[in-house]
Amino acid sequence: MAGDEERILVSVRLRPVNAREAERGDGDEWECAGPTTLKFLGNIPERAMFPATYTYDRVFSPECDTRQVYEEGAKEVALSVLSGINSSIFAYGQTSSGKTYTMVGVTEHSMAEIYGYIDQHPEREFILKFSAMEIYNEAVRDLLSSDATPLRLLDDPEQKGTVVEKLTEETLRDKGHLLELLAVCEAQRQIGETALNETSSRSHQILRLTVESSARQFLGRGNSNTLLACVNFVDLAGSERASQTAASGMRLKEGSHINKSLLTLGKVIRQLSGGRNGHIPYRDSKLTRILQSSLGGNARTAIICTMSPAHCHVEQSRNTLLFANCAK
Ligand code: ADP
Ligand code: MG
Repeated sequence: MAGDEERILVSVRLRPVNAREAERGDGDEWECAGPTTLKFLGNIPERAMFPATYTYDRVFSPECDTRQVYEEGAKEVALSVLSGINSSIFAYGQTSSGKTYTMVGVTEHSMAEIYGYIDQHPEREFILKFSAMEIYNEAVRDLLSSDATPLRLLDDPEQKGTVVEKLTEETLRDKGHLLELLAVCEAQRQIGETALNETSSRSHQILRLTVESSARQFLGRGNSNTLLACVNFVDLAGSERASQTAASGMRLKEGSHINKSLLTLGKVIRQLSGGRNGHIPYRDSKLTRILQSSLGGNARTAIICTMSPAHCHVEQSRNTLLFANCAK
């Protein structure tokens, strides 16, 4: 079994009822009954088959702000990059459940705290690099470049992992530079969506921060003291298609009807959280290939599952919880 340190940190965040749901009087199907327990309050025909309580590392009520979600659901995983440990933080859930809202905030808080740490450690020198990509229908695109040509994945024997060929990697001058790059990513993502006449619900976005550091007295005296790691902030595609397909036992169709990366991520997470040593299918999708060195092994993982409180989304919310259960 995996030790405490290796466990995947799994949390669930319930978003507030939105205006449309409030107008219909649809909401409050779920209740946070404490910091780790979620309760299903609803009344549906399949009630008997529906567990009433669900337990995770952390459950966030609609009143919780993103800072709290960051502090308790992501921080320790994000900051492991400063100790030279790779990590990934995911937002998983159906479209409109709050993935992007959560991930944007978690990314901002993480970056701010990483810069805060650097300011407090003048005895070390830090080099920060930033890259960003989007995976849509198993095609990888650079979000820091206006060139939309899909990028190839290569196995780099030296770095012992998969690298994205020609991916832009910017060395950060300061926090302001990072904000500029985040704006570039957002603009590129929107251009992509317009071109494909699609919304972001089917693409995965990965923002990657690489941190290299060494004690100043060792600079230029070999790299035995160097720490190098990356943290990945992953805003996943909407889970609705993947879970519908899985739940209905439908045969997997090629192309846009299924999301291979999302399904494969589920298999990888299930395998890792089970602490099993068997074959882990990293190579079956672009997302898991890109993240392989930041999943499993001594890498740290946090999954924030986002959920709508509405009755009309109960089925999807339940699928999200089933995914969360597998990751525990
Ligand atoms: P997703 O990325 O999962 O499709 P979004 O993050 O875009 O969903 O959220 C859908 C809408 O709900 C957005 O308008 C967003 O601002 C709002 N929203 C999501 N989560 C929260 C929250 N915890 N508090 C307030 N508003 C939220
Ligand atoms: Mg989104």
